[in-house]
Amino acid sequence: MVLIKKVSAKHIPDSRKEKTIFVEINTNVGSFSGSSPTGKSTGKYEAKPYKKNLEKDIETIKKFSDYFSDEIIDTFDDLRRVEDIADGHFGANTLFALESAILKALSKEKKKEVWELLNPALQKERESLILPRPVGNCIGGGKHSDSKENPNKRPDFQEFLLIPKEGSIKSDFEVNKRIKKELESFLSKKDKQFKKKRNDEDAWETTLNEKEILELLSSLKGNFDLGVDVAASGFYKRKKYQYYNPLLQRKKEEQFLYISNLIKNYNVFYIEDPFEEEDFESHAKLLEKFPESLIVGDDLIVTNYKRFEKAIKTKSVNAIIVKPNQNGSLMEVKRICQLAKSNNIKIVFSHRSGETEEGILADLAFGFQAEFFKAGITGKEREIKMKRLIEIEKKLK
Ligand code: PEP
Ligand code: MG
Repeated sequence: MVLIKKVSAKHIPDSRKEKTIFVEINTNVGSFSGSSPTGKSTGKYEAKPYKKNLEKDIETIKKFSDYFSDEIIDTFDDLRRVEDIADGHFGANTLFALESAILKALSKEKKKEVWELLNPALQKERESLILPRPVGNCIGGGKHSDSKENPNKRPDFQEFLLIPKEGSIKSDFEVNKRIKKELESFLSKKDKQFKKKRNDEDAWETTLNEKEILELLSSLKGNFDLGVDVAASGFYKRKKYQYYNPLLQRKKEEQFLYISNLIKNYNVFYIEDPFEEEDFESHAKLLEKFPESLIVGDDLIVTNYKRFEKAIKTKSVNAIIVKPNQNGSLMEVKRICQLAKSNNIKIVFSHRSGETEEGILADLAFGFQAEFFKAGITGKEREIKMKRLIEIEKKLK
């Protein structure tokens, strides 16, 4: 068992060079740490990253060190005790970083991989385990590509995603890296203003619009499906979708038609947040029309159990984005994944736009048997997660 002795926290820079939380715990089996990413295109209903602010949470952790000391953790479900102590005192980022550190301590003490702690049944059923397919962001727009010098000269959709189907994580990741590299010269030819710049998630920035990008991506050779994260709440204002590239507005019905046409014309397999975060109804209509595609809820559900129940009841999605720090509680993340499994809804574990060098997301995705893993393609913080998933795949064989 793990005996927590001391808990402390500090801030570290994330991939966007903004401050995020880093938590360290001292235990009977050594010192362990965890950190949390931070989102930029956040959903309205996400749990708050910090109770008041980052600095206050760092202070609170210090004050709470005594409350946690001598707390015994022997199984994943013992995180409940940590959550009872933490309840209402600090934000989702802080709780996620703390629980990550605790799981690493437990992994050391039990001499088991972190993913093995999440679901002990997995250890017996190795042959039937699912390895999540990588979903890689190769070209970006929206809030992740905003810059002061170049406002709105970027696609309105936030992410253009490659979802390879080679049958192994290692080969899928190689496909993603190859295509992303090839895109550098394709974009140079097609986009006269292409500056070889990368956005928050290390995806290429371009002045092409979503149709031009989908045209380009569907002309490429490779064994992959196409996806988009529209992140539609990011440009929904005054009851309309406000497009800048080109400049036009779309009403709810027009957005529905536009998205439907893109799915048909470019054979889009994966569509995340095609409508704003209150509009469960349009998501449901789209799913009814395209049951073979994945209609994925991120800002719509925000890794929140109640919103997920609503999405299930209204038949709005057939896939859910799970971002652990959108919720904070890993006990809740587990409940959400169980609900997804029992309703045949695909699980997509996802990084955030501001990331740290933390790899535990891969263990969580595999441990909870996610079907997809969205963690980017290049950049140190993204590659660490992909490499961890490849390592898990390798050890299984
Ligand atoms: C997303 O919308 O899928 C995303 C990763 O964005 P962020 O982390 O900025 O919320
Ligand atoms: Mg999203």
